[in-house]
Amino acid sequence: MTKGLIFDIKRFAVHDGPGIRTTVFFKGCPLACTWCHNPESRSPEPEKSTKHISLNGITFEKEEIAGREMTIKGLLHEVERDRIFFEESGGGVTLSGGEPLFQIDFCMELLQALRKREFHTALDTTGYTTGKEIRQITPFVDLFLYDLKLMDDETHQQHTGVSNKQILENLKYLLEEGKNVIIRVPVVPGITDTQSNIRSIINFLEPMHTSIPPYLPTSLPDVHLLPYHTTAKNKYRRFHMNESMKPEVSVNKEKLTQLKREMERAGFKVKLGG
Ligand code: SF4
Repeated sequence: MTKGLIFDIKRFAVHDGPGIRTTVFFKGCPLACTWCHNPESRSPEPEKSTKHISLNGITFEKEEIAGREMTIKGLLHEVERDRIFFEESGGGVTLSGGEPLFQIDFCMELLQALRKREFHTALDTTGYTTGKEIRQITPFVDLFLYDLKLMDDETHQQHTGVSNKQILENLKYLLEEGKNVIIRVPVVPGITDTQSNIRSIINFLEPMHTSIPPYLPTSLPDVHLLPYHTTAKNKYRRFHMNESMKPEVSVNKEKLTQLKREMERAGFKVKLGG
């Protein structure tokens, strides 16, 4: 029986796709973003963390493990609990991470099982996988929440550790196939929020809708701008990681509004946050 390594399950999620959702967080990610807000998701192994709890001037240490093996059956049992809420709200199940496609066999099996039970499925992905794998999973995904970080390949490699070539290829495929895609851009001060990066994202996405075959709906994908914040920096300590989140400052509101306007002017429907 295939097992997956899961580091969290969030019920009643409202920012990971339409309606009320259960989000399943897969452990393991092939990227190493300098701004990563989920460092506990990156290693494909269970990890120990130390939580400090202060009470009446005394600090207690509590050890926790991030990542537990789960079966498809176990996960289906979890998500079935909220079926009624999904049906009432038009929600469903979102696979997130880490990177769900990093555990491709388990991810595929889970998506198929969810489809069989008529759950709406969303995949929150970096898009960093082979063209073959993206084609395999596509029929079982109702909505892609697709991260677009940096358009310049060299800068992408510098800040994420991998090239963006295959990521862009896979996105192009999904858009040309007329798949339901929401683009998610993490807005990180001084890294992804530069004028040239946002302009390059617009330039990349704009021609896509015109290349879709005429019998499919022609519209630009919606864009969600996800503001970077430093609230997760304690996690680095808890997980005994030497590195820390970079940059040290959260994104400023005016900058965010300015980027939103710029994308709206180019014809995109833009939302702040997920
Ligand atoms: S893709 Fe997400 S989980 Fe992976 S390193 Fe980047 S921010 Fe962290």
